[in-house]
Amino acid sequence: MHAAPTTTASAYRGRLAPSPTGLLHIGHACTFWTAYQRALAHEGTLVFRNEDLDPQRSKAQFVTAMIEDLRWLGIRWPEGPDVGGSFAPYEQSRRRDFYLATWRKLRDGGFIYPCTCSRKDLANSAAAPNEGDDESLYTGRCRGKLPEASGHETPAGVNWRFRVPDGEAITFEDLRLGAQRFVAGEDFGDFVVWRRDDVPAYQLAVVADDAAMRIREIVRGADLLKSTARQLLLIRALGLPVPAYYHCDLFRDQAGVRLAKRHDGLSLRKLREQGYTPQHVLNVCAPG
Ligand SMILES: [Zn+2]
Repeated sequence: MHAAPTTTASAYRGRLAPSPTGLLHIGHACTFWTAYQRALAHEGTLVFRNEDLDPQRSKAQFVTAMIEDLRWLGIRWPEGPDVGGSFAPYEQSRRRDFYLATWRKLRDGGFIYPCTCSRKDLANSAAAPNEGDDESLYTGRCRGKLPEASGHETPAGVNWRFRVPDGEAITFEDLRLGAQRFVAGEDFGDFVVWRRDDVPAYQLAVVADDAAMRIREIVRGADLLKSTARQLLLIRALGLPVPAYYHCDLFRDQAGVRLAKRHDGLSLRKLREQGYTPQHVLNVCAPG
């Protein structure tokens, strides 16, 4: 089961996209194993993409650790930062030109606007973040601002937000969870695509990379279902092909606590040091 899926047999292209902001844990292992199995089943290609966008939180030692830990688990990839490939670079920190081109398209199409709200403005006015979601509903205070009028040649200095079509239901068919539906302006508001500290936001980077790397199916955790709705709006605005989605259950420990919330001994590294085998780890993953 250690074969690396190859590029020849089919057009299926999936990806592993970990962030080097900490050690991978069992939850990551289950999701990435599913991505690997689906690529193998389709005789497709699995791409490893290092999502090291955030210079404050990304650490080189975690890049090394995640590659080692996924290899230890038995996952192989024919394209990635460690092995190269036709869609290099595979590190987000080296793909800024792609993101800038995407930002320009969104700006020129009138899909985004500069938001000058301070953290304090947002804290005072915005509704509380929805549970399990990272971004609170934006009130739209800066919505009327036109990027042309503000003379922004580069995105730096302000937050850039995508203007969502209020009231529109964004629907998609998840390959595992079935029909999904989120309402723009209710389930999520105008989301950030470029941060004021000049770092592209996750939503923009992922959409730009998945299109550039010709990813056909996205396997990731169910905590990102709502992000998928946001990304579908970006995909439509940019006129990009829509990939298929397969969202995995989130791994919970025996007490039902989501693993991402815990920082104890369930990292793959720790388990390996304690003598657990890859099979032990995979045995606790829910099927599919
Ligand atoms: Zn604002």
